[in-house]
Amino acid sequence: MTTVGILGGGQLARMMALAGAPLGLRFLVMDNVADACAGQFAPMVIGDYRDETALAEFASRVDVATFDFENVPAESAQWLSERVSVFPNPRALAIAQDRLAEKTLFRELGIPVPEFAAIDTREGLDAAIAAIGTPCILKTRRLGYDGKGQFRIRTADDAVAAWDALGAQAATVGLILEAFVPFERELSVVAVRGRDGELRTWPLTENWHVDGVLSASLAPARVDASLAASAQAHARALAESLDYVGVFALELFCRDGVLLANELAPRVHNSGHWTIEGAQTSQFQNHLRAVLGLPLGDTAAIGHACMLNWVGSMPDPAPVLREPGGHWHDYGKSPRDGRKVGHATLRADRPRDLADALGRVGAGLRRADQVAPVIAALAAGR
Ligand code: AMP
Repeated sequence: MTTVGILGGGQLARMMALAGAPLGLRFLVMDNVADACAGQFAPMVIGDYRDETALAEFASRVDVATFDFENVPAESAQWLSERVSVFPNPRALAIAQDRLAEKTLFRELGIPVPEFAAIDTREGLDAAIAAIGTPCILKTRRLGYDGKGQFRIRTADDAVAAWDALGAQAATVGLILEAFVPFERELSVVAVRGRDGELRTWPLTENWHVDGVLSASLAPARVDASLAASAQAHARALAESLDYVGVFALELFCRDGVLLANELAPRVHNSGHWTIEGAQTSQFQNHLRAVLGLPLGDTAAIGHACMLNWVGSMPDPAPVLREPGGHWHDYGKSPRDGRKVGHATLRADRPRDLADALGRVGAGLRRADQVAPVIAALAAGR
């Protein structure tokens, strides 16, 4: 009986445990809070990720370890990797934790990125705004997620407010200034690399965010073959340079037909949730296969899928459950503003049927705004 250890006990760990059950796997989840939602399906070690006693107990009870949370301290991942196999490796994790290191690597690999500069001081911010131009975004280098730790700078005068909001963090988690990309679309490529170096990518996903949080994903994204090939080539270059094992997502902005890399997520990703019902093999199952050295599964899509995120609180499930291709995921979390508490996936064989299902669900849940951009993309056939 193989036990997979997961650092972080959120919905990603929970869906990983569900995907691992048919493989006969056991799980052990480590989290610093006792009510982490993966704990409803797997035993837990409760402790701080820096607590070596808790980490040692975790290591002694698992055969291999992985992450649901990318902000596990890099030193803890390193400490653990000296005792048990850890995938992805701590170096990949450390690079993905730091927006500056990540963007520097993208650039070294020839992956286009928005202009960026490291910011250490208030004067440095002014100089970088002058060099990069406005609009631009000041972000924390580490520990930001879902649009948190970001400040949009529209004119040079906003530098004062931006520094008031984030300046204190220059000395702790570090800051980076990025050019604002007036993108036409946001895309992501979710990929998996096995222990033997085999790489597979799912079809590209188109994503829509609201207030920095993912709201909807459509897959396969309607993109031409050359754009898909370029996203896949970027994913391959990254995975090979990091000797990455497991699933990761590369978030991309598309502007004038060119892809610019925003972020590497070193784990299963929200924009890959549609793969549970919309692909031959889900990202969760393939992540487990990769870290265990098992053959990877087919990543082909089955028809067309749209994932809708539920943020804050769960809506009424009935409109989704009524749909022939409707699938419901309630993470078992208590409601809280801005918190991802669940998602639904609608799947259909034809784009038109998916658009119709989205229309019915949007009306039934009074969430027409959430489904509208997806219906428009399907109608445009792009
Ligand atoms: P992030 O935390 O970097 O993934 O940012 C969350 C969301 O904010 C992205 O998915 C975009 O919608 C938006 N965003 C972040 N960085 C930029 C940028 N440089 N230009 C335009 N939009 C951005």
